[in-house]
Amino acid sequence: MIILLKQNANPQQEQNLEKWLASQGIAIHRSVGENNTILGLVGDTTTIDIDLLLALDCVENVKRIQEPYKKANRKFHPDDTVIEIPTKNGDPVVIGGGTFNIIAGPCSVESEEQICEVAKAVKQSGATLLRGGAFKPRTSPYAFQGMKGEGIRLLSLAKEMTGLPVVTEVMDPSQLELFEDMDIIQIGARNMQNFELLKEVGRQDKPVLLKRGLANTLQELLMSAEYIMAGGNEKVILCERGIRTFETATRNTLDLSAIPLLHKITHLPVVVDPSHACGISSLVHPMSLAAAACGADGLEIEVHNNPAKALCDGPQALTPEAFDKLVKQLNAILPNRYTGE
Ligand code: PEP
Ligand code: MN
Repeated sequence: MIILLKQNANPQQEQNLEKWLASQGIAIHRSVGENNTILGLVGDTTTIDIDLLLALDCVENVKRIQEPYKKANRKFHPDDTVIEIPTKNGDPVVIGGGTFNIIAGPCSVESEEQICEVAKAVKQSGATLLRGGAFKPRTSPYAFQGMKGEGIRLLSLAKEMTGLPVVTEVMDPSQLELFEDMDIIQIGARNMQNFELLKEVGRQDKPVLLKRGLANTLQELLMSAEYIMAGGNEKVILCERGIRTFETATRNTLDLSAIPLLHKITHLPVVVDPSHACGISSLVHPMSLAAAACGADGLEIEVHNNPAKALCDGPQALTPEAFDKLVKQLNAILPNRYTGE
């Protein structure tokens, strides 16, 4: 971090600042120029509040040189994070480090028949994990809110039947007690900056699928991952699911550049959700191929056995047949894709 002092900075204030920085364990490299003095801070500046420094009379400007995230930063952890999800039938599902997983299932669990039918179909096609929402974050309080505890029970049933590990969303820490049999906790886009929820899942031992917020930068996404990791849970999977732009033809705009960029700056696996990114089922296939071409570690795709009757997100759901076609094409371009077999 670099602090540019004001031209006529009060020497006493400057001394107070330097003393305070020293008390925080920061060493100072001072360069006196013709017009300005620059303080180069040496040490761990992650806890230093830039706004606090900017509010000081003697400070003209402050610039962070190093990223404020440490645990998620590839600079400090050059190797890819590899997350293993145990399965009943033997080999674990491995996420990260060059594997390509497909998480598939309905937006919401709607009935035993629906989740079991979809789970069987996606497993048959080659999905490695099952998704399904039991607690649903809906824009309208009058819309279907999910089956809640009963939905979790049905997900367990579908897991038992297919052997597929399950990814499902938590919206409030109080729901976590129901998640014992769930394999990956999803934090939805709307909760990416629900810091209390992030801290709570940081105390859990289960992997977390963290979705990018509707209007959040990649740095903010990584700071949210840092919240979870700082709590002791380093099993974080990032998910690019589209961001809000001025475009209204699609539900969101899929930021494909996030994939290679995240891979450069973080060691965490990156999956892509083309369903919520586009909101239109016919776009899911091409965008899935694009995500694979960009180096994604996997996909999260909504599949419904009867999209026209879906209680949530029908227009973006693939039929099991369309999903099967997509997986076949993905397998063709990713011949070494891990399929759990
Ligand atoms: C979901 O995956 O069910 C979901 C609600 O997605 P998002 O949080 O990305 O909108
Ligand atoms: Mn959905």
